Amino acid sequence: MNKRDFIAIGIVIILSALGFIFLNFNLKNDAQGGETVKISVGADIYGTYPLNENDEIKINTKNGFNTVVIENGSVFVKDADCRDRYCVRQGKIRNGSIICLPHRLVIEIESNDKSIDAVAG
Ligand SMILES: [Zn+2]
Repeated sequence: MNKRDFIAIGIVIILSALGFIFLNFNLKNDAQGGETVKISVGADIYGTYPLNENDEIKINTKNGFNTVVIENGSVFVKDADCRDRYCVRQGKIRNGSIICLPHRLVIEIESNDKSIDAVAG
């Protein structure tokens, strides 16, 4: 192996390493970007969930229960035992929040990208 081969191999290794770092950086950015569903009960944060992952969250508090569903980028309350069921009637949201006053439950969609908020809101 002469010096030129060695340099050529070195360049290839560096380029693939850079590509790997770049790819990783992009993946990381994707995970951090997008929107998060934040559920809080009273002053406490119950949990945060990625909006792009379908999920069903059963929330049981001393006030009652709410079943929150995350489905295809939207959030809705599937079922609740509150007296007005206003949270259920609010239906699916893709931005903003659903509030269940009797249960002191707040479901908020938080965007890390303000420009999306401006377009949607
Ligand atoms: Zn409710």
